[in-house]
Amino acid sequence: MFVFTFVHMKTRNLNHNRLLTPSMLYDYIEDKDLMSCLRTFGTSAEKRPIYGYVVGEGKNRILMWSQMHGNESTTTKSLVDFWGYLNTGQAEFILKECTFLMIPQLNPDGSEAYTRLNANKIDLNRDFIDLSQPESRLLKEVFDDFKPDYCFNLHGQRTIFSAGNTSIPATISFLAPSADPERSLTPAREMAMKLIVAAKNKLQSYLSNAIGRYDDAFNINCAGDYFTYQGTPTVLFEAGHYPGDYKRTKSRKAVFDSIIQMCEIISLKKIHSFSIADYSEIPKNHKNLRDIEIFNLKGTSKGISSSKNKVFIQYKEEKKEGKVLWLPCFDSFNAEHVGLNKINAKNHPYLKDISVNFDEIKNITKMISLLSLHQ
Ligand SMILES: [Zn+2]
Repeated sequence: MFVFTFVHMKTRNLNHNRLLTPSMLYDYIEDKDLMSCLRTFGTSAEKRPIYGYVVGEGKNRILMWSQMHGNESTTTKSLVDFWGYLNTGQAEFILKECTFLMIPQLNPDGSEAYTRLNANKIDLNRDFIDLSQPESRLLKEVFDDFKPDYCFNLHGQRTIFSAGNTSIPATISFLAPSADPERSLTPAREMAMKLIVAAKNKLQSYLSNAIGRYDDAFNINCAGDYFTYQGTPTVLFEAGHYPGDYKRTKSRKAVFDSIIQMCEIISLKKIHSFSIADYSEIPKNHKNLRDIEIFNLKGTSKGISSSKNKVFIQYKEEKKEGKVLWLPCFDSFNAEHVGLNKINAKNHPYLKDISVNFDEIKNITKMISLLSLHQ
C-alpha cells in the first residue's frame, strides 16, 4: 500500500532565490515558530507591516536593519541566520552582554517589488534629512527610542565591485561612515573602524583578498553618516559577489560571521585591541568587473575598431512572475574591465563568425541569455 505524505513546501531554504518578498521571509520565520517573537514597529508607504525583534538583556544596545533597499536580500538571510544562532546555547554570553533590535525588512514594498527604492520611488538611504518616507521616519524613531550604542546597516552590492584595483570581486565590503565633511576620526567612527578590522581578521581564512572598503565621502542624508554624526558607531555591510556564486551563499556566510565576530568583540570589551591603521589597509572598492566578457571577437569597419575586440555584458535583475530574471544587457567595449565569466569567441559556434558592431549587440545578448551563466 502506498502512503502519500504531504510535504509542506514552504520556503525552507532562503538561498533558493535572490528574491526575498515579505511573504517568503515571514513564511520561513513562521516555519521556525518564531513569528510570535516579532513586533510591528510601523507600516510602509503601501501599508505593509514593518516587523522587528528585540532580544537579549545586556547593556550594549545594537540596532540592525536590512533590506532598506528591497533588492538587497543577502544580508536579510544573514540576519535570520544570526537570529537562529542567538537561539543556540553558543550565544548565551552575547545575549547577557547585548540587547538587539533587528529589523529584517525595513523596506517591505521594495522587497515585494525587488527594487532598491520604496513604493514612492525614494531611496531610503538618502532620506535622513528630509525624513519624507514612513520607513525612514520609522528607523529614526526606533533609533531615538532604542538609543543604540552601535548600528549595523546591512546592504548588498553589485557584481561590478572589485576589492582594490584587481580582478577579485569584493565578496564583502565595509564602511565606517564619516561624521562630517572633513571625514574626521571621531570616537564613534574609530569604534566602527575597529569593529570592521575585527571582522576582517576573522574572514581572512576564507576571503583573504576579497574584502573591500567603501568611499567615505560624507553624506548626511545616508542613515550611517547621520547616525555616526549623532555619535553612534555605525558599520555599513555590503554583501557582494563570490566567483560563480550568484545566489550569494558565500557572502551570506561572510556577513553572518562578521556580525557574530563584532558582537563577541563588543561583549568581551575588546574593541580597543584593534587598530584603526589596519582599517586603512583594507583595499578601496573599484568598479573593475562585469558579469560577462566576450573576447577575441572580430573587429569591424562599422564603427568599432578592430583593437576593441571585447564586449562586456552586465546582468540586469528584474522581477517577473514571482522570480528574479537575469537579463543580459550591453555594458561597454571598454577593454579595461574584467569579466567574471569569460567567453572566447573563437571557440564559440555562433560568436566566432560575427564582428563587433552595435547591430550585433542585440543578437549577442540574446545568445547570452540562453547560456544562463548566473546559475
Ligand atoms: Zn543598499
